[in-house]
Amino acid sequence: MTDRDTILKTTDLTKRFGALTANDEISLAVERGEIRGIIGPNGSGKTTFFNTVTGFYEPDGGTVHFDGEEVTGWEPHRLARRGLGRTFQIVSPFKNMTVRQNMLAVQTDDGRSREEKRDRVGEILEFLEIDHIADNEARGMSGGQQKLLELGRVLMLDPDVVMLDEPAAGVNPALESRIMDHIHELNDDGTTFVVIEHDMHVMKTLADTVSVFDSGRHIAQGDFEEVSQDEAVREAYLGG
Ligand code: ADP
Repeated sequence: MTDRDTILKTTDLTKRFGALTANDEISLAVERGEIRGIIGPNGSGKTTFFNTVTGFYEPDGGTVHFDGEEVTGWEPHRLARRGLGRTFQIVSPFKNMTVRQNMLAVQTDDGRSREEKRDRVGEILEFLEIDHIADNEARGMSGGQQKLLELGRVLMLDPDVVMLDEPAAGVNPALESRIMDHIHELNDDGTTFVVIEHDMHVMKTLADTVSVFDSGRHIAQGDFEEVSQDEAVREAYLGG
C-alpha cells in the first residue's frame, strides 16, 4: 500500500491512564475507500483509540496523519471540519430539540447559506429515512433512530472518514440492517469508515479489513476469515 492510498494512519500511537497503557504503540493504516473493522475484547483499547485519533484525548506518544497531513493533537471540531467525523457508543442528542433542529445545530462553517443548510438537512434525513420524524422531539426516538440522527449530524460535515463506535449496539434487527445499508451506500460513494463493533455477524458483512486489538496493542490485521483463524486472536478472545 503506498502512502497515497492511505487516508488515516497512526504510528506508535500511545495513550496511558496512570500506570495503564490503554493504547500501546498502535500503528494502523486505513486505505481510502475501505471499511475497516476494529475488534477486540472489552478493555482492549478500541474506544480509547477512537478518542486519541479524533482529538478527545492527548496522546502520550506517536502520531496521527489524516489525508496527507499530520493532525496529532488537533481539537475534535477542527478534525471534524477537516473531514474526520466520528460517532459515540452512547449517543446524546439534544432531547428537547426536534430531529431537524439537532441537525441544524451542527456548526458547518463552510459558507453555506441557511437555505442550503436546511436543504442539506432535508436530503440527509431523507437518505437516512428519518424525514418523517424530522419535526418530532429527539426524546421520543428509539435507540436506533438516535444512532441514525447521530450519523446524520456527522454527515452534515461531508466527512471523508467516519469513525463509528458500535453502530449496531442496542438497535433492533430491522433498523440494524438499514444502518448497515446506509454505511454501504455511503461507502460506495467514497466515504471511508472505521467501525468498532462487537457483533461478529455485522463485522463479517461490513468490514473489508479487520484490525484486532488486545491489551492495548494492535495484534492482527486481515480479512474477517483470516483474523478469525489467527492463533493470537483466538487466544485473546478465549484466554481473556
Ligand atoms: P474497549 O473500547 O476496547 O472496551 P477502552 O478503550 O474503553 O477499551 O479501555 C481500555 C482500557 O483503558 C480499559 O482498561 C479501561 O478501563 C481504561 N480506560 C479507558 N478510558 C479511561 C479513562 N478515561 N480513565 C482511565 N482509564 C480508562
